[in-house]
Amino acid sequence: MIYTLQNIDLEVVKGDISDQPDLDAVVNAANAQLAPGGGVAGAIHKKAGPDLFQECTELAPIKPGEAVITKAYKLPNRNVVHCLGPVYGKDIPEEEYLASCYKNSLLLAERHKLSSLGFPAISTGIFGYPPELAVEVVFKTVLAELPKLEHLKKIKFVLFSDEDLRLYQDKLKKISLG
Ligand code: ADP
Repeated sequence: MIYTLQNIDLEVVKGDISDQPDLDAVVNAANAQLAPGGGVAGAIHKKAGPDLFQECTELAPIKPGEAVITKAYKLPNRNVVHCLGPVYGKDIPEEEYLASCYKNSLLLAERHKLSSLGFPAISTGIFGYPPELAVEVVFKTVLAELPKLEHLKKIKFVLFSDEDLRLYQDKLKKISLG
């Protein structure tokens, strides 16, 4: 599903964030050490190869809400934006940290003149953020940033489960209806 707002395509798909060849960059739901782990970080590091972690070691650690950018190595993209989401119940207020993740990732992509960026559902896996609360923060934050974006023309949300796909589709449908 695609909805175009302020000349920017907002796309919602089911898929694997490490397998998105149409995107300039993908966002990694990283850990503070920017190390390979489970979930999104595991998939990204596995496909990118060990050179990614090598570059990451120079940038780590990062704080909740922070985003950094690296090359993408063997991934089919130019760059990876690594951002650390809040651990639900620990990094408080979670909503602000999660919003910072999306905002900082978008601004970093913009600064690097990227035209397309893909997001997973940050913090909703191991970090425990309830997906139905996270999706509200995601769209509120992204929509607020749209007027500042000059180079980004596509923002793609890549969801791993049917439940998350439906949540995002419902939200985007509501937005499209005003
Ligand atoms: P966090 O530690 O920020 O919670 P996780 O990687 O544990 O990040 O999970 C974030 C979300 O991404 C979860 O909904 C999880 O199911 C989903 N996910 C896991 N692997 C992938 C993948 N390869 N591509 C896209 N989404 C994924």
